[in-house]
Amino acid sequence: MESRYARQALMDEIGPGGQKKLKDARVLVVGAGGLGCPVLTYLACAGVGFLRIADDDVISESNLNRQFLYGPDCIGNQKALMAKESLIRQNPDIKIDALFERVSEENAQRMLEGIHMVVDCVDNAKTRLIMNSACMKKGIPLVEGGVEGFYGFATVVKRNCACLECMGYREGEAKAPMGVIGVTAGIIGMIQANECIRMILGLESALCGKILQYDGHHATTRNVDVKIDPNCGVHKRFG
Ligand SMILES: [Zn+2]
Repeated sequence: MESRYARQALMDEIGPGGQKKLKDARVLVVGAGGLGCPVLTYLACAGVGFLRIADDDVISESNLNRQFLYGPDCIGNQKALMAKESLIRQNPDIKIDALFERVSEENAQRMLEGIHMVVDCVDNAKTRLIMNSACMKKGIPLVEGGVEGFYGFATVVKRNCACLECMGYREGEAKAPMGVIGVTAGIIGMIQANECIRMILGLESALCGKILQYDGHHATTRNVDVKIDPNCGVHKRFG
């Protein structure tokens, strides 16, 4: 056991067996922005052996209040590539596949090849719904999260619990950039990373069939139950 993981290997839930599961895990993180930075950082630190990063954006100065994998010298460069460089410095033992690509109906299945789990770290409904269908089709768990201002949510989509369509999530008008403070993205991203790690270890997801709602003004979270909608088109096809 590498000493890098010694402290987490002391946990009953991990041990050497769990560390091997983390090493063998292959996770796709869609979006290397405000949520993607904490998710990628903590998955890399935990020793998740393969991370695929998909992001078609370049770094701008307005990202730096929350996207801590980047510095001013990264402005104008591809997020996926810069994130990879930064993460490899943190943990050179893992493999990272950086894709400068936007998720679409056409490329979603290719991006999911060889992938065990997806963490969605995007800010638009279109990508979320594409990933929702693509993951349900393949039976791959999807960890969702979103933030606005001091508020955020997280949930887990699987065939045996509600998907985004069941929850009434629909593609709306593209909104102007939303206000967000880095800590909100950090907290929600951390909850997503935690769910991802727990599922890799074989533990039951705490957010399957539940939406965690976070309120940063009151430092509270609550879990709201969500059920599979018998009329959900995605569940009818793939559930
Ligand atoms: Zn559904």
